[in-house]
Amino acid sequence: MFIDVNKIPPEGLELDRHLSLPPLLLGSGEKARVEAARLRGTLRRARSDVDFRGWVEASVFLTCSRCLEPFKLSAEGPCTRLFRPGPLGRPESEHELVDRDLALTPFDGARINLEEIAQEQIYLAVPLKPLCSESCRGLCPRCGAERNSASCGCPEDSRESEPLTSKFSL
Ligand SMILES: [Zn+2]
Ligand SMILES: [Zn+2]
Repeated sequence: MFIDVNKIPPEGLELDRHLSLPPLLLGSGEKARVEAARLRGTLRRARSDVDFRGWVEASVFLTCSRCLEPFKLSAEGPCTRLFRPGPLGRPESEHELVDRDLALTPFDGARINLEEIAQEQIYLAVPLKPLCSESCRGLCPRCGAERNSASCGCPEDSRESEPLTSKFSL
């Protein structure tokens, strides 16, 4: 979804959009489906720059790194960028490093791609080792059974059988 910079009024442009985003390509090579992506925020022009302050949320379908079951992650977080006209798609260089700190994003001076920044933000919200819950008990190291729904009956060492954290118990 592109926003035409010339259509942003002096008082700013408020937006609230549902986006359909392509799957995330994870480090493991796995693809994670993204649904219900929504971007809210305000675009403002400041000379040739465009300032975006907003919030992104989405459902990401992942596989738990402990029990290997699929689960849905509700990802959300602030999404703030300063767009400045400049050359696109050129990483490296000292300038770029400084720019990244300021969340400075180059654009062609005419249009802003909001899908791209929403997707970047959703990537950041996905943990390296996703867990279906903090208290996921994972697979039994002895027999390989999935231990969240039922106990497999293997003897456990005392450290592993500690009670679940209070956050997740009823
Ligand atoms: Zn799990
Ligand atoms: Zn077992």
